[in-house]
Amino acid sequence: MPTTTAPGALRVLHVASEVEPLSKTGGLADVAAALPRALVQLGVKVAVVTPRYRSVDVGRWALARRLRPLPVQLGHTMEVTVHEGNLPGSPVTLYAVDHPVFDRDGIYGDKHGEFGDNWLRFGLLSRAALHIGQELWGGVDVVHAHDWQGGLAPLWTARGVGGARGSVLTIHNMAFLGMAPPGLIGELGLPPEVWSPEGLEFYGKGSLLKAGIVFADRVTTVSPRYAREIRTPEGGYGMDGLLRARAGKLSGILNGVDYQLWSPERDPRLPANYRAGDLAGKALCKAALQRELELPVRPDVPLFGAISRITDQKGWDLLVSHEVEAELAALDAQIVILGSGDGGLEHRLRGLSQRLPSKLALRTGYDDGLAHRIMAGSDLYLMPSRFEPCGLTQLYALRYGTVPVVRATGGLDDSVVDHDAPTGTGTGFKVHDYAPHALLATMRRAAAVFRQRVELRGLIQRGMAMDFSWSASARRYLTLYQEIAKEKSGK
Ligand code: ADP
Repeated sequence: MPTTTAPGALRVLHVASEVEPLSKTGGLADVAAALPRALVQLGVKVAVVTPRYRSVDVGRWALARRLRPLPVQLGHTMEVTVHEGNLPGSPVTLYAVDHPVFDRDGIYGDKHGEFGDNWLRFGLLSRAALHIGQELWGGVDVVHAHDWQGGLAPLWTARGVGGARGSVLTIHNMAFLGMAPPGLIGELGLPPEVWSPEGLEFYGKGSLLKAGIVFADRVTTVSPRYAREIRTPEGGYGMDGLLRARAGKLSGILNGVDYQLWSPERDPRLPANYRAGDLAGKALCKAALQRELELPVRPDVPLFGAISRITDQKGWDLLVSHEVEAELAALDAQIVILGSGDGGLEHRLRGLSQRLPSKLALRTGYDDGLAHRIMAGSDLYLMPSRFEPCGLTQLYALRYGTVPVVRATGGLDDSVVDHDAPTGTGTGFKVHDYAPHALLATMRRAAAVFRQRVELRGLIQRGMAMDFSWSASARRYLTLYQEIAKEKSGK
């Protein structure tokens, strides 16, 4: 497989507000690191542009500071400092954009809430990325912007800034529209005519996501089902009409998994490794996890794991509902949730874990090592999301032999097949209704199958054999880039 690219290779510049291992709040960071690596394997030349947040240690990631500051032309000129290197362990070029607006505690907000000038911060990132691509990297064929934070890159690309032939916008989560005050036109030096319902105006405000949807040559979401869901009033956040009108350029490409990071055979963060053919190590991981969480160490009890933002999206309100607490108390199962997010929900989950200490362990904060130990040590993986664009952790769970229990929505529905005992098929359990009793019923169903050794083994083996590696998805992105390059060269 090529690790250096041929002359004349397609040049793709990613604009991403977070990228593993520099910064991460969710799945976007995983994708922004893994997709570029997979594209390089296909012979594409790739660079990623991301902010240098306060938490990014440029020394640790061997990024070298460019001496000359880069002037970025917005409403007025903002000078950024650029740090350059490689995405660790890969030939992907990495640029970290340094400016005081990124030098804060927190990525999108701090303890007081979201930063009010995020539209300016990520407008700066997008515009800086286009200058970097052209002036420092030596030219770009296709710009690939991620989420609303990258949304202005397609707009500027369509206007000729940066010289790329075209752009792709990937929507990782439609719930974040990237709203901005009308003053953004002047502050960011945007052409006044884009302030219209055909441009980025959205009910009297600006939306950076809308800018991306309108001006990108292709729009993708991270699963085929989610690409359909966002075209409906329930999933479209007011943009479903626009997305229906753009249906011809909208597609869903399921995220892949970086199996270098997520494989039980070689995961260095586990107390024991294991493989599909020999699950002895998984039992050791479970016992160690139960000890770590101060839960009763019982091999016979089903342990449900979850690693998740604790927000309305992820379905935790179903679990804390008073209606089902008695049912939960009666279920002979253990649950561990690692996550952080919404204070109110966290508080309610904590209350539940205090009332059911031998059942529910809650760990708050961000802990990558514990995330891996939960993935390996759990029997079942709980993901009751209200909506889920793709979801990565259920894909990791499949590889770790941790049977997913998911709601049938978005990428969860696309990636998990419901257990069917008569035919001996399926890789997990699906909840259809978004309702507390429905979740509990499915958890009971899963707990019952956990006790049927033969059926359980089948589920585990089929799940572990699934292959969600990036190469197939990266090929689909490459096809889009090639289509854009071809369309534009014909003009
Ligand atoms: P989303 O992007 O909606 O948050 P995904 O399932 O796509 O959800 O991705 C979540 C990613 O973030 C996974 O890699 C998961 O392991 C990680 N993650 C989420 N919360 C935590 C946490 N508290 N500690 C460690 N890793 C976490």
